[in-house]
Amino acid sequence: MGEIMMAGAKVEEKLFQNRYLVDAGRPHIRVRPHEVPSAGLMAMTHLCPAGCYSVTDSGQVEVVADGCLECGTCRIVTKDTGEVEWNYPRGGFGVLYKFG
Ligand code: SF4
Repeated sequence: MGEIMMAGAKVEEKLFQNRYLVDAGRPHIRVRPHEVPSAGLMAMTHLCPAGCYSVTDSGQVEVVADGCLECGTCRIVTKDTGEVEWNYPRGGFGVLYKFG
């Protein structure tokens, strides 16, 4: 019965089943200091499925990796510019997938 209900659930409802353990003070993704973000880095404010990227008042892009799904999109998009330092969270931290 529960499985049948999940089959019809929306993505947001499925994501809600996951849990996230914050590794306080040790973010696994950092945006390197920059004056003007590249178009790719700026695009992450729309592309990140977890909404981790935002623009500061002074026009730089910042990341708060809490809730990151480890999809790797930001790593790939900024691969050539090197603006993002990307690592997997330490073992036991980060997203804890319940389904998948
Ligand atoms: S890995 Fe995916 S979910 Fe995590 S910050 Fe990058 S784009 Fe967002």
